[in-house]
Amino acid sequence: MISIRLKNFQNSPARLVDVTSIDQIYRACREKVGSVCNGLYRDETVREPLKAYSVGRSVFDNSLEPKCYFCESAGEAMGKLEVEHFRPKDEVHADDLDPNEEHSGYYWLANEWSNLLLACRGCNNHKGSRFPIEGVRVKHHQPVRYRTLNRVDSIIDCQALLEELHVVLNPEIDIPENHLTFDYLGQIEPLNDSMQGEETIEILKLYRDPLFRARTKILNEFKSDLKTWVDYHALGRTDDANLRLVFFEISKRIVSRKRVSMAYTLWGRFLNTNFEQIFVVDLPGNIQPILRQAYQDAVTFELALNII
Ligand SMILES: [Zn+2]
Repeated sequence: MISIRLKNFQNSPARLVDVTSIDQIYRACREKVGSVCNGLYRDETVREPLKAYSVGRSVFDNSLEPKCYFCESAGEAMGKLEVEHFRPKDEVHADDLDPNEEHSGYYWLANEWSNLLLACRGCNNHKGSRFPIEGVRVKHHQPVRYRTLNRVDSIIDCQALLEELHVVLNPEIDIPENHLTFDYLGQIEPLNDSMQGEETIEILKLYRDPLFRARTKILNEFKSDLKTWVDYHALGRTDDANLRLVFFEISKRIVSRKRVSMAYTLWGRFLNTNFEQIFVVDLPGNIQPILRQAYQDAVTFELALNII
């Protein structure tokens, strides 16, 4: 999960603030049931910008695969991407709620733009109606005037909702990079004992096996490519100059994993931040300076690309 800050909370897609949407929200508020709103938020005019933001663009580019906001799986690698309600619209399960105390869900946020994210089926199912908080729970909402949608106290960063102190990280308002990291094998873990990091990993099951395997596959492919050429070099089938060129190409691919448009960007950034420890230290001493230099050249190359 990485920080994604492209959405303008104030500027909802027209579909979410049209008369049909407002009528749905009024019915949801009357009946205290969010499911009466099923449908509108799945509209392409809502999904398209979410897809675009997920890969760091303001307009969706069909050449890229949209990503899950939570686990960063691209396309349908971890199941179909669905529109996810950050605050559940139908019911809430959390330890702070007394078993006898009901929460009807954040029904008034069913069509709320700032409450919508894109999530793979795995993350969406694991999160489900779980929404733990550390602060003061908001339970109900009264519309103020018929046919006027009062979004002021519904936008995700409004005072009342912020005071809930939500636990699961939201990539649009939190900075996941301050809460999540990995071990060198690719397993995710909380950064600096972050409680939010730990709870987010647990609730979304970000340690689940398919995700772990997807991350290790990226790492192992890079390591295997490097090893192949180190072996060639040891056998005298390639020289230092050629090795430098090959390492430069492999390094460019490693550096490119930092891009928002790539799957598992947070993991890609971790591989780059810890490049020396992960890729260099285990190589023979005469090879290490060649890889170090090639990687530095690749970093410079990527920087130049970004400037252009
Ligand atoms: Zn996911």
